[in-house]
Amino acid sequence: MAKIHQLDSILADQISAGEVVERPASVVKELVENSLDAGSRQIDVSVEDAGLKSITVVDNGAGIPVEDLEMAFHRHATSKITNRQDLFQIVTLGFRGEALPSIVSVADVVMETAVEGQPGTKIHLQGGKVLEKTASASRRGTKIVVSDLFFNTPARLKYLSSIQTELAAITDIVNRLALSHTEVAFSLSSNGRELLHTPGNGNLKQVISAIYGINVAKQMVEFDAEDQDFKVSGFVSLPKLTRASKNYVSFLLNGRYVKNSHLNKALIQGYGSKLMVGRYPVAIVMIQVDPLLVDVNVHPTKQEVKLSKEDELCNLLAKSVYARIARENLIPDALTNM
Ligand code: ADP
Ligand code: MG
Repeated sequence: MAKIHQLDSILADQISAGEVVERPASVVKELVENSLDAGSRQIDVSVEDAGLKSITVVDNGAGIPVEDLEMAFHRHATSKITNRQDLFQIVTLGFRGEALPSIVSVADVVMETAVEGQPGTKIHLQGGKVLEKTASASRRGTKIVVSDLFFNTPARLKYLSSIQTELAAITDIVNRLALSHTEVAFSLSSNGRELLHTPGNGNLKQVISAIYGINVAKQMVEFDAEDQDFKVSGFVSLPKLTRASKNYVSFLLNGRYVKNSHLNKALIQGYGSKLMVGRYPVAIVMIQVDPLLVDVNVHPTKQEVKLSKEDELCNLLAKSVYARIARENLIPDALTNM
């Protein structure tokens, strides 16, 4: 065996990149989350060949000052938290400082960024190395183009699914991000074809309509409830509108799309006996809670979170959905439940 030695930082980034950027959709998620954290009101995503050829994200957020730009691509470099206390009170989507270094270690990246009133900068990196850094036009915001994803990690490339599956994963994540940030105008296009466009006017029903279609939106009802720790609100489908998978349910915890089987169960419980076995509602559930009650630092992608008082939240959700559905006073109709 060779002597024990420290891996060089690019190799280390490539290894940990596997956790953060599994597939093109995870790159899209990380980039859009950065745009959201930068306070953008408009975010345009375009992909070529399901992101394998290129992923472009353009935002009108705060931008990165020229003196910080290279640092942004270093591992564990972040502007979002500074001390231990911050870690227990995460209010941004990112904080681990892992996405950009992971992405640049396995792709070709060009970023153009400018802060308000200052000249912009353009930086080109490949496989973790800076190739060029120049002055550029100064429109406030950031444009990032990621091409040749996984060019230097052939095993990862081979493991990817078909173009359709990867594109579906991208659409899915952009949909959830758009649902969780109705105040931001999103667009998504694939090989020049527009797949999604949201108005960015804060109207959740319009975003639901843009994503799932107006007929789905029409069969959904608004609900809200709160107790001393949680606020829940959003839209749930009436029992006659169901789907064969859970994919049409989104839990948005303090603006973060999260997956949680207990919340799923609580939602279904809220329908009492009105859902047929194996059928699921369409639902967008916003949850507001003190960040102190949430541990986001469970998994690199942050889609699983640990929640104190989860039982209390599940109860609140089940009860409020039940009450809302009961109010519609609908008799479940097995025939329309297809
Ligand atoms: P994290 O989001 O966890 O901080 P990233 O590696 O994703 O880590 O990004 C590193 C830093 O780069 C961020 O903390 C932020 O300061 C800056 N940054 C990245 N993308 C953008 C963007 N679109 N607009 C403004 N700043 C950005
Ligand atoms: Mg980030």
